[in-house]
Amino acid sequence: AATFGIESALKQLGLKDINEGTSTGSTNFSSGDIIESYSPVDGKLIGKVKATTKEDYAKVMQAATSAFKTWRTTPAPLRGEIVRQFGDKLREKKEALGKLVSYEMGKSYQEGLGEVQEMIDICDFAVGLSRQLHGLTMHSERPGHRMYEQYHPLGVVGIISAFNFPVAVWAWNTALAWICGDVCVWKPSEKTPMCGVACQNIAAEVFAANGLPEGICNLINGDYAVGEMMTKDTRIPLISATGSTRMGKIVAKEVAGRLGNTLLELGGNNAIIVTPDADIKMTVIGAVFGAVGTAGQRCTSTRRLIIHESMYDKVKDAVVSAYNQLRIGNPLDENNHVGPIIDKDAVKMYQNALEKVVAEGGNIVVEGGVLEGEGYESGCYVKPAIAEAENSFEIVQHETFAPILYLLKYSGTIENALDIQNGVAQGLSSAIMTNNLREAEHFLSVQGSDCGIANVNIGTSGAEIGGAFGGEKETGGGRESGSDAWKVYMRRQTNTINYTTELPLAQGIKFNL
Ligand code: NAD
Repeated sequence: AATFGIESALKQLGLKDINEGTSTGSTNFSSGDIIESYSPVDGKLIGKVKATTKEDYAKVMQAATSAFKTWRTTPAPLRGEIVRQFGDKLREKKEALGKLVSYEMGKSYQEGLGEVQEMIDICDFAVGLSRQLHGLTMHSERPGHRMYEQYHPLGVVGIISAFNFPVAVWAWNTALAWICGDVCVWKPSEKTPMCGVACQNIAAEVFAANGLPEGICNLINGDYAVGEMMTKDTRIPLISATGSTRMGKIVAKEVAGRLGNTLLELGGNNAIIVTPDADIKMTVIGAVFGAVGTAGQRCTSTRRLIIHESMYDKVKDAVVSAYNQLRIGNPLDENNHVGPIIDKDAVKMYQNALEKVVAEGGNIVVEGGVLEGEGYESGCYVKPAIAEAENSFEIVQHETFAPILYLLKYSGTIENALDIQNGVAQGLSSAIMTNNLREAEHFLSVQGSDCGIANVNIGTSGAEIGGAFGGEKETGGGRESGSDAWKVYMRRQTNTINYTTELPLAQGIKFNL
């Protein structure tokens, strides 16, 4: 069988059969139990990574807190220069890292490359930002006084990430945190540990080449228990966590208990509203890519199509006919549209969801199922499915991280469609397909979508680096990547300077001594 150059990609990324801590520019002291990483693409062992023990973690935090003292005094534009070099290194390794992402996570090679491109884009964004960490000046009510606010680095930022964007989410956080003067400790998903080591190796080369101390970029490996070392650690003022709402609720509580800050990027239940004025061709492209891209494992995947009754049959037929043309198979083979889902547990969740929607009264219009036989040996390839359902079904209210699309019908006005769209606990991404200006503007207005992302004539999935990314309600409320998301990684300080020989008090208070 074709290996698609995986061996050579692993080599280029400095990955070994067993990856443990090194002390050559890379702060990763992991020496614990072995985590094996199997590819959902062909079921083969990719490599092993050692988990982080309590003792390893103590060493990492020692390195991180000490490196912060150097890094915070490095001028921001010089920190930006390091991030610029990191972006260049990513350009060099783009194909190799994209391939590993595809092989370890299961998304298509094109999407793997796209993920690395997002890393490069956030580096570019961060480099420019490193000269624009602006504060404000304001007029003091007291004569001869100057008042302003400035931003200082926070310290150690803990990053916990999900399997589905095994490299980009780390970069979204770390590139900004670095230019802000923070040092980072990253715990990637235990389902994609090789991607974590690969990124660490790339970053370590840059830090070492610039003679910077260990501890600015740190990796820890393991499951939730290793994540908990950070959420409980009072030396970490900010935890940025991406993953399920279930995880977010636990992490939020733990970190709030010590009055730390969290940036939460949690589950979505994203919908496209298809109005009577929708362009059918655009709707089909947006809906099908949104639902089956990354095999339905994007936080922004399209899970619900809310279709006006006058369009319902037309849209349903067009989407079903597009599904019949989907090719499912090895994601490294560019002829395939849909790769595997992450593991057999995910396959079980997918099967349960399909059973549940039927039990609740739904009607399957594109059958699901697990594929077997040549090319599907990993047992992780499933057929994208479509079911007609009601928004009130329990299963529709939940995010199932797999390629299942629910068709929901609305009648009457856009308000009815919005009631359905907003009638879930999550609030990440949303879209409307319409050529009607009034409907589009209503959707974007205060009475419209309650999500962090609201698109017109574009699907729900995918994001661009310039805009702040994140969602409301059970999606966690965090914003990262673009716009002014950098402010989360800094602490704000208000300063007043008196350049007179008098000491007038504010609010005209007299205090005669
Ligand atoms: P998950 O919640 O199972 O795991 C995510 C990460 O959290 C992993 O690294 C895991 O080890 C860690 N973790 C779990 N419990 C923890 C705890 N108690 N303390 C500390 N760390 C803990 O999620 P997953 O299956 O890897 O990813 C899929 C989920 O992620 C989906 O719900 C998806 O929507 C969401 N997601 C959201 C975004 C977003 O930006 N909103 C982006 C990507 C993924």
